[in-house]
This record gives sequence, structure tokens and C-alpha cells, in this order.
Amino acid sequence: MRQRIVVLGGGISGYGSAILAKKQGLDVFLSDAGTINPLYRARLEEWGVEFEERGHSMERILSATEVIKSPGIPDKAPVVVAIREGGIPVISEMEFAARYMGKAKTLCITGSNGKTTTTSLIYKILSDAGYNVALGGNIGESFAYSVATKQYDWYVLELSSFQLDGMFKFRANIAVLMNITPDHLDRYDYSFQNYIDSKMRIVQNQNSRDYFIYSADDQVITNELEKHPVRSKELPFMARTAVASTAGDACLSGDSFIARVANLSVEIQTEKMQIKGLHNSYDAMAASLAALAAGVTPQQIAQSVYDFSAVEHRVEPAGEFNGVLYINDSKATNVDSVWYALQSMTRPVVWIAGGTDKGNDYTPLMDFAKEKVHTLICMGLDNNKLENSFKGVIPNIISTNSLDSAMQAAVSAAKSGDCVLLSPACASFDLFKNYCQRGELFKEWILKNLK
Ligand code: ADP
Repeated sequence: MRQRIVVLGGGISGYGSAILAKKQGLDVFLSDAGTINPLYRARLEEWGVEFEERGHSMERILSATEVIKSPGIPDKAPVVVAIREGGIPVISEMEFAARYMGKAKTLCITGSNGKTTTTSLIYKILSDAGYNVALGGNIGESFAYSVATKQYDWYVLELSSFQLDGMFKFRANIAVLMNITPDHLDRYDYSFQNYIDSKMRIVQNQNSRDYFIYSADDQVITNELEKHPVRSKELPFMARTAVASTAGDACLSGDSFIARVANLSVEIQTEKMQIKGLHNSYDAMAASLAALAAGVTPQQIAQSVYDFSAVEHRVEPAGEFNGVLYINDSKATNVDSVWYALQSMTRPVVWIAGGTDKGNDYTPLMDFAKEKVHTLICMGLDNNKLENSFKGVIPNIISTNSLDSAMQAAVSAAKSGDCVLLSPACASFDLFKNYCQRGELFKEWILKNLK
């Protein structure tokens, strides 16, 4: 029987999958309930892929032999429910594209926080070292489109739990798991274990020649490994625990870490890195282990790690004016990432937080808030929870409901030597389109009003 592929969603993963299917000579149809980005639409037309927008032709979709679903479409969407009821297999872009990538190797990064930073750093190290490498998954170009249009030796892929859910036979040659803290529970029946199981799929199908890099400081991960030992070579990284692995490891002690794989090792002075704080040391340890496992020399790794500067919207310095340093951490949409941002602050902090609360428990932030933050500026349509949580902990709390009023309050509260940190702990959808727009408007405001 001829394979009939239906691609659900015409975003970055969908358009790439549809083009790859077409290139492979499969019967393919793409369906999107909304509108498709004009750039992707143009590429679909260029490749002669049949597609529809603003609705789903259910009969045609239900005649598929396999469905490639965008990670953004939840399992509860009626179209997905109908597909599953019809017994049609549902896979992700990663699963599909990996079938056609030939001898290329995959280096996959997942976790609740630090994926983009670690993925970008690994990609930089491999490209600086002259590897023929593509960047894909949640960032970069569509993995499937790269497979369709060029031949690479390595694919560095940032994977969300939603992508992992649609991966079954895919094998990561090098897998990196940064951490697991509660997130996206609304998509996992509010069960943390379901979300953990999803993240642990990163090691499925690995064999004894593959590598598994993970945080040994993360109890959730180490508990899972006790229950389900892996077949691959373990490369733990850590700052607080001491775990030895014959294959190699990375350990932070004081201001430096050594990452070792087999008989090769690289030492990094964290003070010399441009990205600061414990979280960035974790990301650099994971990236160094991944690069060593991929065969990059220690000298090249050190050079690239020192060269690497913050990824936009992640504890990104946004300028210093009148002695006040402005820091854009708009990507911090959960409590754990704010913990690391506050941890890395060395100046007194005016902290801008708030937005759409995803059921946050702010308790883990109390110690840093007391120690480092003198002013909390709440920026959201509903600031009650944030205000009540930090009453009595942070001396000065100001409620605002727009970026402009938040920024004016921040400027008047900050003294020379302070920093103003935008690290919201919340999603941005009440006042902004997304976290990128929130971070961009923050930076624009600074340039317009303070320069
Ligand atoms: P992700 O892609 O997983 O969302 P990012 O690299 O975009 O991760 O970082 C998201 C947020 O988490 C930022 O605020 C960043 O400073 C913080 N962060 C980065 N690395 C880590 C880490 N290892 N642990 C916790 N937080 C981190």
C-alpha cells in the first residue's frame, strides 16, 4: 500500500516534514487550522506540496497511513483525538526525518531549563571546530528541511518533551538531559511522573556505543536512573554531588571545572566565561562533555566556551546606564529559571516579575529574594499572588500593569551599583505576544529612554 502522510501544522516542523516527504516520493498533504507563515507557504508551493489552511479536511486526514504532528498541537485537540481513534500512528518531525538522514549522527539536548543555551553552545563548539553540522529542533532550521536539502555529518537538536512524545525508534548518539523540574503539567494530565517519563525518552534506543550526559545533582534524574539503568555510556556533570563514571564526567569545584571523556579532558575557568552563574556552569559542563564525546579537541572546546556570549533573553546584559546594569531574562518563565538568575546576581537587585502565572510556588525563591532583592516590581494584569507571596520578604513592592509603568518604577527605584533584572517567572501572554516580544520591548525601552 502506498504511504499517505498527513502533516498536521504548517509551522517550522511541519513545513520541513512535508517537503522531506515530497522529496522521498511519498503522497503528502499538510493541514493547518490557522494560517501558515508566508515564508513556509512559499517553500511548500516551490516543492509542490498540497496543503490547506484555516481548517482540517477530516476525511482526507483520516485516510492517512501515518500522521506527523507539530509539537505545538496538544493531544486533546479534536483532530488528534479523531486520528488516534482511527488507529493511525502519530509521530513527530524528529522520528520522521531521522529515517532519511543516512549515516549522520545526532546530538540531542532536552531538560526543563537550559536547553537553548546548551544547544547553542554545543553548535558553536562543533561549528568552530569545522564540523559539518546543522542546528535544529526547537531552534535553528527545521531538522526535516535540513535533511531534505543538504547532507550533514552531525545534527544538534534541541528537543522538547512534546517532540520526545512522538519519537519511538529515533536514537540519539549523544543525549543530554539538563534537569527535570515541573513544567507544562497541563499537557501531562497534571502528573509530574508523566512529564518525567517523557523527558527520559531521550535515552530510548541508545546502545553501548552512545553517550548519556546528565546532571547528577538532579535527584529526579538520578532516581529514574536507579529504576531504569541505561545502556549507553554515562557522563554525569555536577557541582554538589560526587559521582564517578568510568566513561567520564564533569565536576565544578570553586571557579573551575574539568570535563573528561575517556583519556581526554578540558579545564575551564568559569570566571573567564562570558555567561555567568551556576546554571551557566552546568550548561558549559554539559556542552564540554558533549563536544569531547563528539571528538572535538580540548583546546578547541576551551576557546569556543570562552568566546560564547549569552543567548538573547537569557540573563542577557542589556546595557549599563547611570551605574545601573539592566538584564533581560525574559525567557525565565518558570520559578526554577528565576532561582538561577537570582543566584547569579552580584549586585543589589530591582526585580521585575509577573505575567500569566502557571500555578507557581514561589517558596524556593524566598532566600535569594530576602538576600538580594530590595524592590519587586510586579508587571501583569493580576499581581495579587506575587505581591502576597513576597510581602514581608522584599521591603519595597510596586504593582504595575504595563511595561512602561514598570520601567519607570524600576528606574526610580534603582541606585548606582544596582541591577534591574527582568526575570518574570511567568508566561507573557497577558501583556505581550510571547517572551521574545517582552524581552525586545524591555531592551527598546532602555535604549529609547536611557541612552
Ligand atoms: P530552555 O530552552 O530549556 O527554555 P534556555 O537556555 O532558553 O532554556 O534558558 C531558559 C531560562 O533558564 C533562562 O532564564 C536561563 O537563564 C535559565 N537557565 C539556563 N540554564 C539553566 C540550567 N542549567 N538550570 C536552570 N536554569 C537555567
